[in-house]
Amino acid sequence: MPVFFKDEFLSVLSKTLCDSSCSLHKLNSVFGLDKHDLQGYHVHTNQQLHKTIPHTKMERTDMATSAAITCQSCSAEISEKAFLDTHKVCPECGYHYPMTAYERLELLVDGDSFDEHDAGLYSTNPLEFPDYEEQLARDYAKTGLKSEILTGEAKIGGQPVAITISDFGVRGGTMGAVVGEKVTRNIEYATQNRLPLIIVSRSGGMRMQEGTLSLMQMAKTSAVCVKHAEAGLPYISVMADPTFGGSTASYASLAHIILAEPGARIGFAGPLATASINQQLPDNFQKAEFLLEHGMIDRIVQRSEMRSLLIDLLDFCVNSPH
Ligand SMILES: [Zn+2]
Repeated sequence: MPVFFKDEFLSVLSKTLCDSSCSLHKLNSVFGLDKHDLQGYHVHTNQQLHKTIPHTKMERTDMATSAAITCQSCSAEISEKAFLDTHKVCPECGYHYPMTAYERLELLVDGDSFDEHDAGLYSTNPLEFPDYEEQLARDYAKTGLKSEILTGEAKIGGQPVAITISDFGVRGGTMGAVVGEKVTRNIEYATQNRLPLIIVSRSGGMRMQEGTLSLMQMAKTSAVCVKHAEAGLPYISVMADPTFGGSTASYASLAHIILAEPGARIGFAGPLATASINQQLPDNFQKAEFLLEHGMIDRIVQRSEMRSLLIDLLDFCVNSPH
């Protein structure tokens, strides 16, 4: 098992992870979900389906009843076609709306090049948190993901990479034992196969339903980032809105190059925690623009330019003489 703290965590992980052929349909039968539970959600059948379905419940409702939506940032009326053509960026004000993991995958990687890894890894509710399995099952159904985070190998501009993409639709993109393990395995796969690493993050922080087991993932994912870097391999982190908590405090911030989407909220403590200190904070506090000014990220990149920039950066990192 490719776990950094193998001896210490092996017994714990054996109770929290389950390598099986778990699928959405199996989960549906296990947890008794029926058509009513899935109504309004898109069921995973292929990647193309996800391109045409909005992400949040509010967006889905809007799209179902109208061919146009109202931008929540500038109030412009946007046609569904224009919204999808710009990959969910408002053509009037440039506001970047949320994307699912599958939409992000389709945007960034070469067509049909993605080979998913560890799709059958899912949590077994080690702390017996009430309703946790049911919540996860609903999140899988809602996002179409087979597991909590998308990991695998793909090509970007012909360059093979190891890639991880999180989805806020699964428990707010939080990192529990499964997310930590899959991120770790993907980084170790990159190291073993001498691949550049791309991680796209959207995370609310750590998974409260898994308590300390979640916190352990910060050390584990950070350690394999170091080993990947020591092997002389490049790592590019893409932070989308929002990237908070333990994800920011571990693997998402340990890249050689850190990119962010415009307006992305990025930080350690979230808005509720920062409000509790009763201090006047800068207007742009915990926004990508503020973090760029203060050297925490390297560049803010429009969604439409992200793939071409990744191609250029990969070409520079892999093919330039050092
Ligand atoms: Zn707008």
